[in-house]
Amino acid sequence: MSSPPLNDTRSAALYAEALRVLPGGVNSPVRAMRAIGRDPLFVASGAGAEIVDADGNRYVDYVCSWGPLIHGHAHPEVVAAVAEAAARGTSFGAPTAGEVELAEEVAARFPSVEMVRMTSSGTEASMSALRLARAVTGRETILKFAGAYHGHVDGLLAEAGSGLATQGIPASPGVPAAAAAETVIVPWNDPEALREAVARHGERLAAIVAEPYPANMGLVPPRPGFLALLREQADAVGALLILDEVITGFRVARGGAQAREQIRPDLTIMGKVLGGGLPAAAYAGPRALMERIAPAGDVYQAGTLSGNPLAVAAGLATLRLLDDAAYARLEETTTRLADGLRDAAAAAGRAVHVEQVPGLLTVFFRDGAPGDYAGAAASDRDAYAAWCRALLARGVYPPPSQFEAWFPSLAHDDAAIERTLAAAAEAFEAIAGSLGQSPRIPSEDLAQGARSSRGVEG
Ligand code: PMP
Repeated sequence: MSSPPLNDTRSAALYAEALRVLPGGVNSPVRAMRAIGRDPLFVASGAGAEIVDADGNRYVDYVCSWGPLIHGHAHPEVVAAVAEAAARGTSFGAPTAGEVELAEEVAARFPSVEMVRMTSSGTEASMSALRLARAVTGRETILKFAGAYHGHVDGLLAEAGSGLATQGIPASPGVPAAAAAETVIVPWNDPEALREAVARHGERLAAIVAEPYPANMGLVPPRPGFLALLREQADAVGALLILDEVITGFRVARGGAQAREQIRPDLTIMGKVLGGGLPAAAYAGPRALMERIAPAGDVYQAGTLSGNPLAVAAGLATLRLLDDAAYARLEETTTRLADGLRDAAAAAGRAVHVEQVPGLLTVFFRDGAPGDYAGAAASDRDAYAAWCRALLARGVYPPPSQFEAWFPSLAHDDAAIERTLAAAAEAFEAIAGSLGQSPRIPSEDLAQGARSSRGVEG
């Protein structure tokens, strides 16, 4: 099943224009939809759970800006807060009261946090958290997990070398070999590999960095005990544990995945929901570590738009709407959606595995839980792509890559979920018989698209 021809649409015309002035027609790779073998839709507006494209087509949106929009699009209170802030001036490059309030809100939600330093993107926050960890420990090596994404920081755009190599190699041209070489990559959910890597690199290890619920290889939750092992292994060699809660923070629970899993990191990276759809992110932790940051301490880091008043206003309005009832509702919505998708797949005889945590899910086109990046990559990505195209043709906008999570929001009401499940059932039927076949793009190109776009956005 392929989508209707796009050539005579406004989206197609905009894309053709965009290709002349934006590399690949977009400002971030996954948006181009290459991994699902079609051209992107240009979005004109959004309200609640819905977006409207440049041609007036409506979609139930499960990208939701890749996570920030936990209240859906254009929530009136968030919009009003931003408008009020903008009317008072958009940026000062001097302290404002809102930044203090937002830091207090974050510290109230995260027991591991006493102090917060805001940045404009998650990438900046993780780059800066690594600098702090290196300064504090006087060490340089970072351990990360295969398939995890922490922004496009040079040293973290690394992949495992082959054979017995333990140093990372650049995952993109332009990444210095020396930057990647300071990164050790270990398969997620593999206790033996983790122990071995920590034993080998122990004295050089500045930090273990992990998404507590990795969501950039699709959602691949930790097996029982694995997060506790991260804490134990970091402590064993005097390295810091950095949890990247850019996706999970303020989403899976009030205090993020660390609250749900009862694990205390040394530093936390945050973003997305924190900025309520405007550019804001942060790294945060106990005073003893955070006071190493300039001007309190000697570790340099700065930003022209850090703590921007509009972003702070959007973040504060967003967090204040997130009470216990909101989290209960988001969990319920996620479960309804996940169960419905499982049922729809089963009815069509399609083997899928749906992973879920509150506020996140991934429909893996494979039998059984993936467990790690290799497992996620072994999904039938051609079939996922065909299903996504069929969903788009039926008014549902899924994450256009097998390696991304769905972001249901608090605006996804019963009607939105019902519409989604009806479309999903039809889409599973529509792709039955074209198993693994992609009408427009050969699978090598799809794999290439998936690789180049994996984890770069969500
Ligand atoms: N960490 C995680 C877990 C992410 O998912 C992302 C982006 N999706 C980032 C860091 C980087 O954030 P940003 O895109 O704001 O730079």
